[in-house]
Amino acid sequence: MDPNCLFCKIINGDIPANKLYEDDDVMAFWDISPQAPKHFLVIPRKHISGPGAMGSEDEQLIGKVLRTGARLARENGIGDGFRMVFNNGAEAGQTVFHIHMHVLGGRKMTWPPG
Ligand code: AMP
Ligand code: ZN
Repeated sequence: MDPNCLFCKIINGDIPANKLYEDDDVMAFWDISPQAPKHFLVIPRKHISGPGAMGSEDEQLIGKVLRTGARLARENGIGDGFRMVFNNGAEAGQTVFHIHMHVLGGRKMTWPPG
């Protein structure tokens, strides 16, 4: 846990979030500033600053983040068309340095992303 990390504070319950799911490993909540009709985040409870800071011991955990996101997309009416995004580093648009996967859906997505 990083006491200065926004998502660690959400995990601890110090800051409220609109939760979809949580278990011993991961948590999912709706993004406060949605970029699509359906937009939620999936995070591990463990503080990892981003994909570039993962160790080999985190591979299974982040695999669970991914599979949980796919399941929650189905269960929340997003269907089969969704986009999953991990931003790494400020240059890529990362603003919260606790690894998180965006799941976006409910509209047609374009490529390439901006
Ligand atoms: P990123 O830019 O990839 O670091 O994504 C961080 C995301 O966290 C952004 O989409 C924000 O809208 C979202 N966010 C920031 N604070 C909160 C919060 N308190 N609850 C839910 N989502 C948040
Ligand atoms: Zn954290």
